[in-house]
Amino acid sequence: MTILVTGGAGYIGSHMTLELLDAGEKVVVLDDLSTGFRWAVPEEVPLIVGDFGDAALLRDIFARHDVQSIIHFAAKIVVPESVADPLGYYSNNTAKARALLEAAVEAGVKRIIFSSTAAVYGDPEHNPVTEDESLKPVSPYGRSKLMVEWMLEDVSRAHDLAYVALRYFNVAGADPKGRSGQSTPKATHLIKVAVQAALGLRPGMQVFGTDYPTPDGTCLRDYIHVTDLARAHLDALRHLRGGGESLVCNCGYAHGFSVLEVIETVKRVSGVDFPVEFAGRRPGDPAAIVAANDRIRSRLGWTPRHDDLETIVRQALDWERKLAVRNESGA
Ligand code: UDP
Repeated sequence: MTILVTGGAGYIGSHMTLELLDAGEKVVVLDDLSTGFRWAVPEEVPLIVGDFGDAALLRDIFARHDVQSIIHFAAKIVVPESVADPLGYYSNNTAKARALLEAAVEAGVKRIIFSSTAAVYGDPEHNPVTEDESLKPVSPYGRSKLMVEWMLEDVSRAHDLAYVALRYFNVAGADPKGRSGQSTPKATHLIKVAVQAALGLRPGMQVFGTDYPTPDGTCLRDYIHVTDLARAHLDALRHLRGGGESLVCNCGYAHGFSVLEVIETVKRVSGVDFPVEFAGRRPGDPAAIVAANDRIRSRLGWTPRHDDLETIVRQALDWERKLAVRNESGA
């Protein structure tokens, strides 16, 4: 039984592949390498370079490999880009996911685990936010993902296909064994940016907004270690394999840090006091969003193992150093 990982050459997908291999699973990766890296896919894993919405290619993959489960990561994920190019996001994240589901149903695939996002909540009224909070995504990115959740709900009712949609909060950190990490050169995520500033890979950084209704005026987020997130997918897979019902679960630690607390931690762990400029709010940023995680703990048996901001930052720094050496040597 093979697991198809779409987007397996990307940040979260590559950690997933490692987690699956560590668990003794058989994996095939489908990735168009638009933001992923060939080197991020371990040698023993077949990498098919192509489009996850290509029906003929999918048919071919399903004919060659005994795919019973799909873990679907491949997507565009930059919120401001989605605002500028909504149709591109609906095409890539939504329409192609429809094609993937159609091919999966046709081929008799039984299980799918879907990368959803806390962006489906928009600016939530309650924190920690439960899965039952009203869904009011504010960006085309969030909407493009929510539509897939709805497709999955309908498809799972009509066909023999069960799903778990995992709503990711702020994913950060790197493989504790140093095998992968966040490698996108233009990544905009806070911990990545701060780590790059600490290592002198950028001159400094900006804090977007200091007048939010939070204790220190900067935004609060729930930062989850990428390996704990990958583990949540493995738990979801086991749940579905055991005949568990379809589910939507938040993935986060149920506590948050402000932007200033994150920057302070990166400065402390790196020992570098890099320049920080206070800037205006970034459009579309909710003031605070923290995951309620009772459901994933009770239904999937998920237990966080890396819930420590210092560890997340230290491993992100280690990975960024490694990446800088790799880039310098042109590998
Ligand atoms: N942020 C910041 N400076 C940066 C990058 C991010 O102040 O260079 C802030 C951003 O405004 C938000 C928080 O850090 O309040 C987390 O942003 P990120 O892009 O990492 O994730 P998001 O929560 O938007 O998915």
